[in-house]
Amino acid sequence: MPKKTYFAFSISLLILSVIFSLYFALTGLLLYSGLFLLGLVVGTVLLIHWSTISYKWECSKCKDTIKLSFIENVKGVNIGMNKKNLYCNTCNKKVPFNGIKK
Ligand SMILES: [Zn+2]
Repeated sequence: MPKKTYFAFSISLLILSVIFSLYFALTGLLLYSGLFLLGLVVGTVLLIHWSTISYKWECSKCKDTIKLSFIENVKGVNIGMNKKNLYCNTCNKKVPFNGIKK
């Protein structure tokens, strides 16, 4: 799938899942509510996948760029909009990295 499709699809899935799981929770249909909670999880995973393939990360100190795997993207702590604290192999320490759209 193209990157933009991933983004649009996961955002739509997240919004619809929130609406429907709330709706079914309020009407007492907890099984359906649970199903849409699952949709919430899938939407989140797709969104992380989208951000994994769409961004590369630039060290704020040495300007080296790295790519993250899905797991590294999850584990990397966000310290702001498009900012993550990551280990830089060139600087040999944890430094803030800036996300750059590929
Ligand atoms: Zn560095």
